[in-house]
Amino acid sequence: MTARILDGTRIRDQIFAELKMEIARLGAEGIRPGLAAVLVGENPASQLYVKSKIAACEQLGLASWMHTPPASITTEQMLHLVRDLNKDNAVDGILIQLPLPKQVDTKRVLEAVEPAKDVDGFHPVSLGHLVSGRPGLVACTPAGCMEILRRNGIVIEGANAVVLGRSDIVGKPMALLLMHANATVTICHSKTRDLPDVVRRADIVVAAMGKPGYVQADWIRPGATVIDVGTNKVTDPKEAEALLRNFPARLEKFREKGAVLVGDVHPDAVNTAGALTPVPGGVGPMTIAMLMSNTVEAARLRRGKAKTDTVQSIAGAR
Ligand code: NAP
Repeated sequence: MTARILDGTRIRDQIFAELKMEIARLGAEGIRPGLAAVLVGENPASQLYVKSKIAACEQLGLASWMHTPPASITTEQMLHLVRDLNKDNAVDGILIQLPLPKQVDTKRVLEAVEPAKDVDGFHPVSLGHLVSGRPGLVACTPAGCMEILRRNGIVIEGANAVVLGRSDIVGKPMALLLMHANATVTICHSKTRDLPDVVRRADIVVAAMGKPGYVQADWIRPGATVIDVGTNKVTDPKEAEALLRNFPARLEKFREKGAVLVGDVHPDAVNTAGALTPVPGGVGPMTIAMLMSNTVEAARLRRGKAKTDTVQSIAGAR
């Protein structure tokens, strides 16, 4: 069996097309949703992520601002910047790119973001809404995973879903979203016993551990759906060979470039799963799509605009 590939890039493009219509509708009423991104220091990965988020804003016609304080910034200075953005009425969404430098109190900074502008869904108020099943801004990566499932017609209601990882930004909100969609959810972490057996019972596996190829192909129940959130850069040739032994073209590319992106699920799972997100090109593009969707949603809510069919459709997974 070869799994159906759940193409995140295609769904992102669909969502962008839907958002463009919504943005045009808001534009006709004189509203231009805007996202302010804060990128501290010069971490190359963070620079790349923020650049792609700003590029998505430009592609969709959203206003965007990038603030780039130096790595030496203090917690107080960050709080000052966040308060200014909270007060700026043109800003609908505030994105604080993580990680922040060690001397900065990340929790205090995230909690200072006005909940109505919390497009990352990290604020305790947003998390509270999610726990109690009320509408609100949901963390982008798990919201993107739900869109992948929903738009591919994967049955969630009644399914046994296993979430690998319990981080605040992926695992926990993912488990809550699946539970609200009526899956029976098991959350696993580094102390879980008999992990392969737990995974084998899953109709839906969501892997968010940060461990390249950790979930073996024979842990996946034949026909199960696999959502692979893991985004791991592998540079060790031995590790790459073990992971890509059955994918000569990808191995060849690794040899040319010296690096390859691999998920948390072993690539061989494509032969056991019924449906699977590729890495790259699965969950990654959806995270940006949902950030854009959250920014439009925040603009709509802050400015008291009614929900349209488009927003309803994207928010259906929340
Ligand atoms: P994280 O904060 O490091 O959390 C990892 C989780 O995995 C923890 O809950 C940890 O358990 C669990 N874990 C680690 N080893 C395990 C093991 N052997 N067995 C079972 N559970 C284990 O990571 P994260 O921020 O959630 O991110 C997870 C992955 O998703 C990373 O690869 C990250 O790059 C990727 N990611 C991708 C996107 C995207 O847009 N594609 C977005 C966000 C994250 P404990 O709690 O017990 O330590």
